[in-house]
Amino acid sequence: MAKSKFEYVREFESSDRCLPNTWMVVRLDGKGFHKFADKHNFEKPNDKNALSLMNEAAKSVMKEFKEITLAYGQSDEFSFLIRRDHDLYNRRSSKISTIICSLFTSAYVFHWDHCMVGKTLLYPPCFDGRVILYPDEKNVRDYFSWRQADCHINNLYNTTFWNLVLKGGITNQQAEERLCKTVSGDKNEILFSQFGINYNNEPEMFRKGTVVYRPKDRSKRSSNVNVEHIDIINDAFWLEHPHLLNK
Ligand code: ATP
Ligand code: ATP
Ligand code: MG
Ligand code: MG
Ligand code: MG
Ligand code: MG
Ligand code: MG
Repeated sequence: MAKSKFEYVREFESSDRCLPNTWMVVRLDGKGFHKFADKHNFEKPNDKNALSLMNEAAKSVMKEFKEITLAYGQSDEFSFLIRRDHDLYNRRSSKISTIICSLFTSAYVFHWDHCMVGKTLLYPPCFDGRVILYPDEKNVRDYFSWRQADCHINNLYNTTFWNLVLKGGITNQQAEERLCKTVSGDKNEILFSQFGINYNNEPEMFRKGTVVYRPKDRSKRSSNVNVEHIDIINDAFWLEHPHLLNK
């Protein structure tokens, strides 16, 4: 096709091709979900349906992009791990993060009615996205450990906080003060002695987040994924599924 005289502006685009042979993680996070959760009356501290909706959106992304071997989600965030040898969009960072982010967001809206039974979506939600490159297995595992540890820390705090407020009858500020110098043992103790809650019996999805991964499968085209709420900090998961990190 003949080129117009305007074609030169294309030269202003800069390359953002990512380093070859490195694992790529795309992390998405909801924008202003503190408010979004309030406006849509999410249950505190964990709205089960809202988490299931996040998981559905992540499954839609994994169905579309077979290069993603594993995803991990908690709260309003999801991280996607892309095989290190992939050549998706010629490894262009912005192409990859924007396409995953927009598919996730549209799937979140698409599945809303099904997951958030009886709730009207009041305004269009949006997510930010970033790409992070990791050169070795340890870094990849530490990344996912970091997110799962974050889930645990936040969930223990939030569970204790909302029990103090909703069942303990103290104000948000009093609960904050009560918790500010506590370690995790103290929070477990408050939950148990004051509310009869054994934290370890709280739902796994709340405590561990959600792991979506591709099973080792003869047909690489299969869009089948497993959804589990399990530990990915210790070795067991990775020893059982070494293909998730294989080149
Ligand atoms: P930012 O735009 O900077 O990400 P944010 O308001 O989204 O701001 P986050 O740190 O991402 O802040 O935290 C997300 C917040 O969304 C949580 O603290 C919680 O209040 C709310 N939230 C997200 N998912 C759920 C859920 N399933 N159930 C209840 N609350 C949720
Ligand atoms: P890529 O994923 O590489 O962008 P693509 O199929 O989206 O591939 P584009 O070069 O972006 O290809 O072209 C978009 C195509 O979508 C058009 O060529 C046309 O076939 C179709 N299309 C988009 N908008 C309209 C529209 N409003 N009416 C009819 N066809 C449309
Ligand atoms: Mg934030
Ligand atoms: Mg957020
Ligand atoms: Mg967040
Ligand atoms: Mg095109
Ligand atoms: Mg197009």
